[in-house]
Amino acid sequence: MAMIRSLYLHIPFCERKCEYCDFVSVAGDRDSAAYMDALCSEVRLLGAAFADSQLDTIFIGGGTPSLVDPCGIGRLLQTVHEVFVVAADAEITMEANPSSTSRERAAQWRAAGVNRVSLGVQSLHRATLRFLGRVHDAGRALAAIDEVRSAGIANVSCDLIYAVPTLADDEWRRTLAGAVAAGPDHISCYELTVEPGTPLHTSVRRGLTSPVDEDVALAQHRIAVETLSDAGYSQYEVSNFARPGHRCRHNLAYWHNELYLAAGVGAHGHVAAEDASRVGVAAPAGAVAVRYWHGRGIGFYIDSLRRGELPIAGWEGVDAPGHESERLLVGLRLTDGIRVGDSPAATDLARAGLVERHGGLLRVTTAGENVLNSVVERLTADAAQEACYA
Ligand code: SF4
Repeated sequence: MAMIRSLYLHIPFCERKCEYCDFVSVAGDRDSAAYMDALCSEVRLLGAAFADSQLDTIFIGGGTPSLVDPCGIGRLLQTVHEVFVVAADAEITMEANPSSTSRERAAQWRAAGVNRVSLGVQSLHRATLRFLGRVHDAGRALAAIDEVRSAGIANVSCDLIYAVPTLADDEWRRTLAGAVAAGPDHISCYELTVEPGTPLHTSVRRGLTSPVDEDVALAQHRIAVETLSDAGYSQYEVSNFARPGHRCRHNLAYWHNELYLAAGVGAHGHVAAEDASRVGVAAPAGAVAVRYWHGRGIGFYIDSLRRGELPIAGWEGVDAPGHESERLLVGLRLTDGIRVGDSPAATDLARAGLVERHGGLLRVTTAGENVLNSVVERLTADAAQEACYA
């Protein structure tokens, strides 16, 4: 069996749907108790199939995991520990929203084994929070950071969003300064994207909202890089910034294109082709890895697990060239860079000042980061061609 070190667990309940959200989530926590039972059942099935793996990272995401009964989080992590070997120093992250965080709840998460909380702060600007459809205000967001820390969870991350039509550069600077002053160990800054099927998408289609220009978005990204770097957070991935020793190990596993298990509605996993049968799927001929996913229906998920079946909705094989393209696609987001052999594209991109070699690794420059997608396209086209010639 190929080594699996990471497990993702999805909890799909939220207080209300945010305007821009296309994650697998529903408003309200109806059926959350039955769902958490089903999630524990899936963890047991996965644990039985991958008993020889040792988990270094566990990530409970959503949705809003902080919304469900903290006892459910306790049972979930207890189940993980019963069926998997979990490293003594494993990073165990849980996503939380400020509106469902309190010191008492955070103490229960900590007792359950959570040692890192990622808070969906998103903004400290009132009009922007309203535009995004968030239910908290700036005061609640800052209080939540304190509550998590005072409950004994030292490792705290904040998510922020920029390129929002209501967010002028000055307000973005103020949000960054406010977040820095609250002292989280890690900050993620995501550009707002307009995803099909969301209320924001409808509003843009009807001409009621104008998305932010690409130049403004790029400028706000640079403001984040500069402000956070001045405050001691180093950028280690395009959208992620950490104080020394606080990079998110779970997300690094994704960016290093490692294998991981996933449980819960909508969750996607990545296993070696030789292990595909352990999640009940057949690896296509020529595949080196398999990506599998769950459906979005909560009722179907619960019913399947009551019958003792893994509710896998689909899967696809990844062949060796595809695997290399994926590795470039995610790895080039890392500021350290990744191992990439010499190729005409790499040479051209280096000449154009978009990539550089550093300590045996290839990484994108600041200019390259601004056009990251086209840099990746050039390199993956080269990699695919090399694979054809091989
Ligand atoms: S809290 Fe997060 S997952 Fe829930 S609706 Fe808002 S953006 Fe989506």
